[in-house]
Amino acid sequence: MQFDAQLIETLRGARHVAVLTGAGVSAESKIPTFRDAMTGLWARYRPEELATPQAFAANPKLVWDWYQWRRGLVEAAAPNEGQKALARLADLVPRLTLITQNVDSLHQRAGSPEVVELHGNISRTKCAREGRIVASWPDTDQVPPPCPHCGAHLRPDVVWFGESLPPEALRQAADAARRCDVFFSIGTSALVQPAASLIYETMRRGGMTVELNPGETPQSDEVTHSLRGPSGVILPALLHAAWPEA
Ligand code: NAD
Repeated sequence: MQFDAQLIETLRGARHVAVLTGAGVSAESKIPTFRDAMTGLWARYRPEELATPQAFAANPKLVWDWYQWRRGLVEAAAPNEGQKALARLADLVPRLTLITQNVDSLHQRAGSPEVVELHGNISRTKCAREGRIVASWPDTDQVPPPCPHCGAHLRPDVVWFGESLPPEALRQAADAARRCDVFFSIGTSALVQPAASLIYETMRRGGMTVELNPGETPQSDEVTHSLRGPSGVILPALLHAAWPEA
């Protein structure tokens, strides 16, 4: 696989690399992206209709059950070659900030040392009223289970459409986008804000921006380099091209 010489040179010389990932980096681990059609029982729903506070208020059991199904997929999944390559990248550059919109912990399971989670984590549960993280609750037939502290519904600790992002994670992500030499946007449709706008912080300063996606996104024509293909194939090849000795 051939890469642009300047991309390789800039990557090798970079002091700080920022990487934003989306659902596409987990697609090769068989976790469906939001743009994939859902299958089986869930085929008649659109994720955008379930991943909202309004959906949870209207039908908490439906939303809880959907997340239980997705938790099952995540638990059965294994990190793929793209996620493993990103874990190796942390040892190859002086500083890497890995920012993810994913909630599946696959970067951590692949060995990435630090991950900025913009949209929470599906394996955590919190109280829908008070927001406190709840690690366990008594056995119950109620769905969703009630918070053991206040009795409100429990919900997954993820950011739903229309909700604010965790401020500290967003601060770290924006800071990295403002300081990095190279910003990668990998496996994201670049439609969900504010994550999709981070790359413009790097662009404004004239930093190198690289998109990696099998398809086109609204940013494909704006980035310095657009790499087309699955991240599980392109990322290992890119690392090999930049650090053949590693
Ligand atoms: P998205 O579903 O909107 O877009 C996925 C993108 O990945 C598409 O542009 C697609 O072309 C690309 N893609 C598909 N296969 C790929 C591959 N093998 N390699 C690289 N790219 C590939 O996802 P989004 O932009 O992340 O936004 C949707 C929201 O839903 C986000 O908040 C996201 O975190 C969340 N979500 C998370 C998960 C997860 O944690 N795994 C799964 C689904 C949705």
